[in-house]
Amino acid sequence: MHLTRFSLSPLLLWLLAASYCWLCAVVACYTSHPWRSLADDLGITLPGGVQFEKYDVFHDLILSEEFKRLGTYGLADGLLGAFSIGFPPVLSFGSPAMIAKVAPALLRGEKRIALAISEPYAGSDVANIRTRGELSADGSHWIVNGVKKWITGGYWADYFTTLVRCPQGMTLMLISREMGVETKKIKTSYSASAGTAYVEFRDARVPVDCVIGEVGKGFYYSMSNFNKERWAMAASGNRMSRLMVEECFKWALQRKVFGKRLIDQPVIRLKLAEMAAEVEGVHSFIEDVTYQMSKMTEASTSDDSVVDVVGSVCVSLLAAFTCCSSCCLR
Ligand SMILES: Cc1cc2nc3c(=O)[nH]c(=O)nc-3n(C[C@H](O)[C@H](O)[C@H](O)COP(=O)(O)OP(=O)(O)OC[C@H]3O[C@@H](n4cnc5c(N)ncnc54)[C@H](O)[C@@H]3O)c2cc1C
Repeated sequence: MHLTRFSLSPLLLWLLAASYCWLCAVVACYTSHPWRSLADDLGITLPGGVQFEKYDVFHDLILSEEFKRLGTYGLADGLLGAFSIGFPPVLSFGSPAMIAKVAPALLRGEKRIALAISEPYAGSDVANIRTRGELSADGSHWIVNGVKKWITGGYWADYFTTLVRCPQGMTLMLISREMGVETKKIKTSYSASAGTAYVEFRDARVPVDCVIGEVGKGFYYSMSNFNKERWAMAASGNRMSRLMVEECFKWALQRKVFGKRLIDQPVIRLKLAEMAAEVEGVHSFIEDVTYQMSKMTEASTSDDSVVDVVGSVCVSLLAAFTCCSSCCLR
């Protein structure tokens, strides 16, 4: 697959035709091996004749980078980002009944899902979220109250993978819009097409079977999910940095000042070289981490100590990418 910014119009038409369900399958199929056959059962195939069993995290890297190559980060986030962080916890930790109920429509692109963790009071500090869940008197529902902020794709989402503070500990719940959820658009500096939303739960009545995995284990599930998100942010962000290098290079070749092209000034060439070195360094780090991830077994991804180690590596990766993008932006 090879996308360019010039293919944006056909891409939008393609989106209007609502034919992005294979993308959903792509994101979903690596997450939890037993569920790969689900996309197969639905008749969803991968582009380029790639077999589901051969799909690995390197394919995911290519997909992620090619979408960011368009230079439209918000569109890619609205289309794919919300799904790729909201759906994996359901596939990895949800019950078979929950998956059977929601996955087909999500994989076909008929319904949308978002990840609702951050709040106005707690972003990085996830342990301090305030959205609360109380069990109803008859024990059949959780009554959820609280607000979530910066939720990508939240404005259009049908389902919200939501972290809730319950008396038994943090719990991840799959809350659907009609259970008592209201959303408002948040204006952002990157794009309205990301569907970024402020999400309110007002006495939302969430059936107990909408708990993802076990009550009280939501923090662990969220941390495990963040690892892939951090990796994807670094991969996508570094592709945007590469785009900046490309644009600066083109501009330096054509812009003339003081009778010379910018590229003919040694200081500009040094600047471009520094940017390129940063981007290549981070890309190499990303490929190393991707290789390690491709060698991890299904069992090891749910091992607490492995989740911790991968978490540290992915945070370092994110830090390296942040330094690199700062260098390119300066
Ligand atoms: C484009 C975008 C999309 C998003 N999509 C989603 C989504 O779909 N779902 C969702 O739940 N959330 C989403 N978020 C929210 C995101 O997860 C939070 O913005 C993030 O966790 C940071 O939280 P905060 O903005 O409250 O910053 P804060 O937690 O207030 O942090 C502010 C700054 O301080 C730094 N900082 C914080 N703690 C420390 C520390 N201990 N040591 C050193 N530095 C520290 C942070 O790195 C940051 O630079 C999104 C955010 C953005 C920008």
